[in-house]
Amino acid sequence: MEKFIYMDNSATTPVKKEVLEEMLPYFTEKYGNPSSIYSLGSQSKVAVEASREKIAKAIGANSREVFFTAGGSEADNWALKGVAFANRKKGNHIITSKIEHHGILHTCQYLEKQGFRVTYLDVDEYGIVDLNQLRESITDDTILISIMFANNEIGTIQPIKEIGEIAKEKGVYFHTDAVQAVGHIKIDVNELNIDILSMSAHKFYGPKGIGALYIRQGVKIDPLITGGGQERNRRAGTENVPGIVGMGKAIELAYENVDEHNERLISLREKLIDKVFKNIDHVRLNGHPTNRLPGNVNLCFEFIEGESLLLSLDMEGIAGSSGSACTSGTLDPSHVLLAIGLPHEIAHGSLRLTLGDFNTEEEVDYVVEKLIEIVSRLRAMSPLYEKIKEDK
Ligand SMILES: *Cc1c(COP(=O)(O)O)cnc(C)c1O
Repeated sequence: MEKFIYMDNSATTPVKKEVLEEMLPYFTEKYGNPSSIYSLGSQSKVAVEASREKIAKAIGANSREVFFTAGGSEADNWALKGVAFANRKKGNHIITSKIEHHGILHTCQYLEKQGFRVTYLDVDEYGIVDLNQLRESITDDTILISIMFANNEIGTIQPIKEIGEIAKEKGVYFHTDAVQAVGHIKIDVNELNIDILSMSAHKFYGPKGIGALYIRQGVKIDPLITGGGQERNRRAGTENVPGIVGMGKAIELAYENVDEHNERLISLREKLIDKVFKNIDHVRLNGHPTNRLPGNVNLCFEFIEGESLLLSLDMEGIAGSSGSACTSGTLDPSHVLLAIGLPHEIAHGSLRLTLGDFNTEEEVDYVVEKLIEIVSRLRAMSPLYEKIKEDK
């Protein structure tokens, strides 16, 4: 059998068998519309509400504060546009960071065209937002702070609690794109002062195309999708019942042994990083050394194009990514790597390997072995690298 090693768990994850099993009946025999009053419908309604409970419980929220969406991007769009348009009378200023997912950045650009003002906070060399700059940026016009929980490219986890405190103190709503964090890191929206939070099931072994937005009771936010009265008049459209059921099961499983899972992932991650550093020169680790997602490894290999590295890995049956899934295919270096201060030529050579529940020690060994071969082969074609070696 041909070898296949999947190390792109931040792009998406496979649906767990137990999750799929829970979903299947809702495609066939339990197909009722949750809005219908006969029992086939109410059966679906009950399943949707049970899933909502599970999601609320996982983040310390009330189930009345959880609203289903068609994924993380919709949740991000809703949070930003919904708060912006509902609070326009109060102010027109939004604060975010330079390293957000495009679901946030492109929505901010859209809002700028609609007359809103957006401040994009700088980050330090590890990708952590500047809290002083955050404090100084808040004005009477500021209606929303949107800072991601953990970065999808370099894995850095933000000081969410501190940001929440600043937002609360200043009376500004705090939204966090927690798509990379939910199901992986323990979250309590009250302890962290989070008002609005985006999540997406396919990043934690649930199905694609289903997500949720947590909205704290009392937050003023317009709907994004208008139509029928589903989701208590806040998100129209017949519910994606199988997806919702799968998301509930996936979040439950994700937090079942989260500490053990993370310990295992961290040890795999450190093993991978150690072995790379012991065997390959001119390499750097991007993101914070410890304060990062358990499964995230992001490396820059100087003198190498990220794309050629990915193609060579693919030929060995290894799936990784350069930058983020959404930007690969373009030749622009990642906005995240540029924001942490990397020069263009180095940012081009980045490789993201994200480990998940199904990766093993043997896979880590194999990937490093192949990386050593590929990096040395690609560098042999680089005149610049050859020159640096001679100069030594
Ligand atoms: C994947 C991702 C999204 C988008 O979620 P989808 O469900 O794929 O739309 C948004 N933000 C972050 C940080 C992500 O990693």
